[in-house]
Amino acid sequence: MITEINNIRLSKHFKLSEFLNLRKYPENIPSMQDVVNLTYGCHLLLEPARVVAGPIIINSGFRNPEVNQKVGGVRTSQHLLGQAADIRPQDPSQFWNLIEFLKICEHTDQLLTGNGWLHISWNPLAPPRHYVRVGYYK
Ligand SMILES: [Zn+2]
Repeated sequence: MITEINNIRLSKHFKLSEFLNLRKYPENIPSMQDVVNLTYGCHLLLEPARVVAGPIIINSGFRNPEVNQKVGGVRTSQHLLGQAADIRPQDPSQFWNLIEFLKICEHTDQLLTGNGWLHISWNPLAPPRHYVRVGYYK
């Protein structure tokens, strides 16, 4: 089961396993809708972002309620739905390029940035809010 999940590719450069952190949280299994949501984010945001800023590291993607609670996520977190990822560019010098791209990307729902990483969200079920807060996380 875990092996199969690890081999699922959501888009050309992103695998489902990158969004689950199963080594640390083996119970963090997404639903079909969660996977559809993650796939949407990969195709409309993360792949285009990768073209601009190079390879992207996913720190946190999908979280089931237990994982979300453990990491101190808010109860309404889009991570619970596979609609968000905390990311950073593999090349730190691309950080602002990545932010600038996601700021203007038409599919960005929420963009919150911290020191060297950022939270990006999307929602295939509603129009994007384009809510951007640079420096939201200290
Ligand atoms: Zn986040």
